[in-house]
Amino acid sequence: MAAFDVVIIGAGVVGASLAWRLASSCRVAIVEAEDQPGYHSTGRSAAHYTDVIGGAVVQALSAATRPFLENPPPGFTDVPLIRRRPVLLLFGTGTRDAAFTLHGLSHVIGHQLFELDRDGCLELCPVLKPEKIQSGLWEPAAGDIDVHAIHGAYLRAARASGATMFLNAPVTEMEHRSGVWHVTVPGKTLEAPVVANCAGAWGDVVGRIAGAAPVGLVPMRRTAFTFRGPNGMDHGAWPLVADDGESFYFKPEAGLILGSLADEQPSEPCDAAPEELDLALAAHRIMEWTTLDIRRMESRWAGLRSFVPDRLPVTGFDPSCEGFFWNVGQGGAGIQTSTGLSAYAASVILGNGLPQDLLDAGLDSETLSPSRLGGAR
Ligand SMILES: Cc1cc2nc3c(=O)[nH]c(=O)nc-3n(C[C@H](O)[C@H](O)[C@H](O)COP(=O)(O)OP(=O)(O)OC[C@H]3O[C@@H](n4cnc5c(N)ncnc54)[C@H](O)[C@@H]3O)c2cc1C
Repeated sequence: MAAFDVVIIGAGVVGASLAWRLASSCRVAIVEAEDQPGYHSTGRSAAHYTDVIGGAVVQALSAATRPFLENPPPGFTDVPLIRRRPVLLLFGTGTRDAAFTLHGLSHVIGHQLFELDRDGCLELCPVLKPEKIQSGLWEPAAGDIDVHAIHGAYLRAARASGATMFLNAPVTEMEHRSGVWHVTVPGKTLEAPVVANCAGAWGDVVGRIAGAAPVGLVPMRRTAFTFRGPNGMDHGAWPLVADDGESFYFKPEAGLILGSLADEQPSEPCDAAPEELDLALAAHRIMEWTTLDIRRMESRWAGLRSFVPDRLPVTGFDPSCEGFFWNVGQGGAGIQTSTGLSAYAASVILGNGLPQDLLDAGLDSETLSPSRLGGAR
């Protein structure tokens, strides 16, 4: 008999949340290539939650996560997992190729997003340049997520229920024999009938090791940095500010300001690093829209957001590779969907039927299945 029921590859937020969901009913092993979980995308995010990102399915998965962030079960964590951080989306005076339009967002205007005139925008963020702004949209219920806390709490809860985590354990070989996967990491082979591929940007690499056809995952680099706010001005209550051309965003972050180019540069899966040019461009755009003076960056980084062409997660068993479960492609919403998506994934693995809130939102066990990518594979 195999020692485990499920081997989860990858201990980022996607693998950690799935381990937490499964560990109370299955024998779970989590294998992580790095010496610390969360080293890649999970530890490099903007740590933000918005109800309106990503279309209906991602919104349903986010809505299934939010109540958990707001009210985690007793003992799960001792710090708040979400704190209010509204979004201010700016419509510029000279935007070409807008990524967001009032028309495109009309279905959420009036209940999740609220229209603001130029003065309203300036009131929320007084460093904006009035001449750049036509109007804005305000999402008051958006929030900052404590990523370190939720990721750590998923892993702690999984281990408390019996999951075993192996660090410094890159999977190099996998073989499926007589209904059991033999998963090789340095120094050992783990056996389980189900392998869950939660390898983030490496999803297709891990798929290839298992002999599965790729799902067409494209890791996209995103650049971020922190800088000091203006002297003598308390910026702690500013919203996350973004523009309709998706050319930058910034938000207060632990006494500093986090800025990003909001870029999507296709990349190989790797330990992503920021390009000097992207950092300079991000600073330039933020200074173009504001009176902020970015002379020095306190920290700088890049991370990978991985997508398949329809930009939905790929969460389901491979139709041609028995016992191989995909859970990749969370793009820019892997943290804010983690509770909902892990419930979805666990219910497919356990064959339990989806939770009612996801069924009510129109999802079924095929919605995220790799089978939907037929043509792309
Ligand atoms: C700049 C930036 C801003 C973002 N902002 C937000 C945000 O505000 N809100 C939000 O919800 N999301 C945001 N995201 C997206 C979010 O970070 C990701 O969706 C999420 O972290 C993906 O989690 P993951 O577990 O799939 O990936 P990862 O955290 O990358 O974990 C995958 C793990 O698999 C391991 N692995 C890979 N190959 C192997 C192997 N062969 N063997 C063993 N282990 C392996 C890796 O080492 C890695 O630790 C942002 C991302 C970036 C880069």
